[in-house]
Amino acid sequence: MAIDKIVIVGGGTAGWMAAATLSRLKKGRELSITLVESEAIGTVGVGEATIPPFVDFNQLLEIDEREMLAASQGSFKLGIQFVNWGAVGDSYIHPFGNYGYQIGAMSFHHVWHYMKTRGDNRPIQVFNAETMAAYFGKFARTADTKREDLPPINYAYHLDAGRYAAFLRKYAEGRGVVRQEGKVSDVTQHAETGDIASVTLEDGQVIGGDLFIDCSGFRGLLIEQTLKTGYEEWTHWLPCNRAVALPCNRDDGSPPAPFTRATAHSAGWQWQVPLQHRNGNGHVYCDAFMEADEATDILVGNLAGKPTADPNHLRFVTGRRKKFWNRNVVALGLSAGFMEPLESTSIHLINTGLTKLIAVLSLDGITDAQRETFNRLTGTEYRRIRDFLILHYNTTTRDDSEFWNYCRNMSVPDSLTERVALFQETGQIFREEDELFTETSWAAVMMGQGIDMKGHNAMAETLDMAATKSELDEIEKSIRFLVQHMPAHRDYLSKYCPAP
Ligand code: FAD
Repeated sequence: MAIDKIVIVGGGTAGWMAAATLSRLKKGRELSITLVESEAIGTVGVGEATIPPFVDFNQLLEIDEREMLAASQGSFKLGIQFVNWGAVGDSYIHPFGNYGYQIGAMSFHHVWHYMKTRGDNRPIQVFNAETMAAYFGKFARTADTKREDLPPINYAYHLDAGRYAAFLRKYAEGRGVVRQEGKVSDVTQHAETGDIASVTLEDGQVIGGDLFIDCSGFRGLLIEQTLKTGYEEWTHWLPCNRAVALPCNRDDGSPPAPFTRATAHSAGWQWQVPLQHRNGNGHVYCDAFMEADEATDILVGNLAGKPTADPNHLRFVTGRRKKFWNRNVVALGLSAGFMEPLESTSIHLINTGLTKLIAVLSLDGITDAQRETFNRLTGTEYRRIRDFLILHYNTTTRDDSEFWNYCRNMSVPDSLTERVALFQETGQIFREEDELFTETSWAAVMMGQGIDMKGHNAMAETLDMAATKSELDEIEKSIRFLVQHMPAHRDYLSKYCPAP
């Protein structure tokens, strides 16, 4: 059956990202796109930290970065700082971008480790521009620095989720997407195929479609409540199941940091996302180890300023839908699955879900090959991200609470065990199956968690010590010079994309 009508159920970040992206399909063919959302139900209202591919997503939509950041009072993000994860008192940055660059066809951390074994005690962080800029609260884009001799500066955004959705709504409506306010109260399926035929709103209005995008949030209105697709739970590996979110002002006068902070507490962790006008904050925790009141108290006790809203309590179950595309329904966002926001991957998964959907979609009709490819690739993506998140919990030395004792001792997927063991023995990390996280990401988190490399690529031993030392000196010096001449992040924001 040809696709002439697309219905998106849900107007959170996922719904409006889908609407904005799909509205661009209209150029080739007349296509009706309707988005149904219910103000009475509202959106999850969190989800404000992103990762670098999100910059490409906005570019794909030809969105003006300055305009979008100003409208969503956003800021720049160079990485994530993890505090108290490997041990209480520890801190490290998982940076966007790479440590140094390849030397002798080897990833930089092998060369760094080789030099370390020969007495060079410089921390690996001094060879990463994003980390150094983050520590000094600086920011500039590659286009500003004009340093073609250095790798580009990788960045993402912190965004006010509500304002970003409103920005995308304007974009999508301007391209013909029709927004329908109302609560879906009934769903009709085709008798022979079981495909969704239409959704009915509380006021009786019936909206029919050929392809449905389920962006209805955790409830999974179409993918689960109607199609009973099933959910694969990962709570034994990612046990946190609650969050309390609470934005605050920055009346301590601190500037917006160009990074997200994830501070571990006794039964979970707290995020701090600095926007231009406020900080987004939240405490993700596991209710088997902590009560809601205690989680809220810990959060309130660790804010940079006064709360600007009431605490928003959320429940979730980590895992994924057994199929992301079932019949004529594609689930995106929270209806597809949930892994906690430790590495800011949820909006990313919406983005890659849409990129894959556009790549395989044919408006002439849905085929099994499309569905199966989409499901297989998305499943792999989820699994790879899952392993990376488990790494943060499992490779800790913390023994100060029942929660951390559980995490430290839990059994983890074989794929992760193997990866950690290989890194410990040889420093090798193989980026597999087009996975999101780079060698630097894995190395940064493993070393940050306290896992030491015992060895390195044997080819490093063939490097000339003096020449390698001067190459490292040059990288370090260039990065220091670059960062020294970058403006403060706050100044950059007020010049580049001030809130209107
Ligand atoms: P929602 O925002 O819940 O939207 C659901 C929509 O469906 C709403 O418009 C609602 O009105 C509509 N709807 C539901 N039922 C009906 C109905 N019957 N009729 C009509 N409309 C209906 N992601 C990141 O990338 N970075 C982060 O830092 C991050 N932090 C997070 C922190 C927490 C605690 C949580 C829970 C999530 C976080 N996420 C983060 C995930 C991110 O918030 C979501 O991926 C993103 O907001 C997308 O949500 P959504 O649009 O799928 O769902």
